[in-house]
Amino acid sequence: MISAYQSVKSRIPSHVKLVAVSKTYFKADICPVLDAGQCVFGENRVQEAKDKWPELRQLYGKIELHLIGPLQSNKAAEAVSLFDVIQTVDRVKIAEALAKEVQKQGRALQFYVQVNTGSEPQKAGIIPTIADQFIRDCLETYGLNVVGLMCIPPVAENPVPHFKMLRTMAERTGLSELSMGMSSDFAVAIQEGATVVRVGSAIFGTRQITR
Ligand SMILES: *Cc1c(COP(=O)(O)O)cnc(C)c1O
Repeated sequence: MISAYQSVKSRIPSHVKLVAVSKTYFKADICPVLDAGQCVFGENRVQEAKDKWPELRQLYGKIELHLIGPLQSNKAAEAVSLFDVIQTVDRVKIAEALAKEVQKQGRALQFYVQVNTGSEPQKAGIIPTIADQFIRDCLETYGLNVVGLMCIPPVAENPVPHFKMLRTMAERTGLSELSMGMSSDFAVAIQEGATVVRVGSAIFGTRQITR
């Protein structure tokens, strides 16, 4: 099987998907980026996305919206109706709630399993020791269209071992997409096989509100 990340050297840059992370930014800040032709965006809160994106979608047409922040199961219905891709599937309760909503709404979403590669207690994501089984359950038990893995390495650490762990896990579980790399480390993430990078402040400028 040839997957996007196996041939890192021969991969052309346009094959890496850029998710422009527009959280905390207002429509006026986002419009110039849409005008420049970017059509893939990421938000980390369901409510914020709901406040901003329906109108922008009406104005700009086809947009691919990614949820990159933690999801509560009581927001699963809204998330499934608003987003095209949910990158933060990380526990059974969410997998179940999402599967139910996908069925009910008849929408074709893509999903990523978020892995807590640093096993940080406060951080979202499934811990690596049980991740393989969880990925299989998402695919087989819940029938979710899981296409890849996502991680956010610990802030003060070299991200490379985390990127390598995610890549190995994707290879082992037969997934082809790797969402890794943010403003500070997207270049190294691409070297390590990222097929999706999530870049906010390098596009929109430093956020006033941090989260
Ligand atoms: C905010 C955020 C990003 C983007 O971060 P920048 O450092 O602004 O590029 C990427 N991924 C997730 C999950 C985020 O919450």
